[in-house]
Amino acid sequence: MLNRRQILAALGTTALASLAPSMLFAAAPIKPDDSSALLVIDVQNCFLPGGSLAVKEGEQVVPVINRIAKAFSNVVMTQDWHTPGHVSFASVHSGKKPFETIDLPYGKQVLWPDHCVQGTDGASLSKDLSIPQAELIIRKGFHKDVDSYSAFLEADGKTTTGLAAYLNSRKIKRVFVAGLATDFCVAWTALDARKAGFEVYVVEDACRGIDNQGSLAKAWADMAKAGVKRIQSADIASA
Ligand SMILES: [Zn+2]
Repeated sequence: MLNRRQILAALGTTALASLAPSMLFAAAPIKPDDSSALLVIDVQNCFLPGGSLAVKEGEQVVPVINRIAKAFSNVVMTQDWHTPGHVSFASVHSGKKPFETIDLPYGKQVLWPDHCVQGTDGASLSKDLSIPQAELIIRKGFHKDVDSYSAFLEADGKTTTGLAAYLNSRKIKRVFVAGLATDFCVAWTALDARKAGFEVYVVEDACRGIDNQGSLAKAWADMAKAGVKRIQSADIASA
């Protein structure tokens, strides 16, 4: 990697004079186009302060998401949408507490407090979201015996939500992921989006994590390995 001094020396003063400093040292802002979609993951009351599975500082993502959403003509939102007595709830497994894990037929499952039960206020999207142009709300986790962190595939790794087919039929190539929580539903969505062939950006300051036993660092490492690009909201050109 060249440092700033070496770049300046290589360019020479004549070439340099014609370039604005921002062109040299900062990446150009990313401009979402018609083949880009913002995926707003699980910004629901249960995951916000006062909710049964509140993510620390979760409410802080809302104004950031509202701001970046203005730059997108395509926005999809997701909603965790569980049956009562869902398999991911610690309360249905005797002797188990939230944040412990159990082995289910499809693999290891973290157990959660009851959350996002279909039709409850806790499952509602935050009233502070302001994205009237959002065109689709994908509900997930509605099969009682299978969880679904990912907006693309349920936790059994084979049952699709239909989102990839929807995005493909809309000719979407790039997805930008924001919301809650970074290390679970955001990360699993981003990883599955890569597997489905999309170019994927996670907007870090438009997400917050739960960070259960190192899960946040692991999620970022897994995403980096899969080619997910980690960006900040300021990297997106405003509308
Ligand atoms: Zn859930």
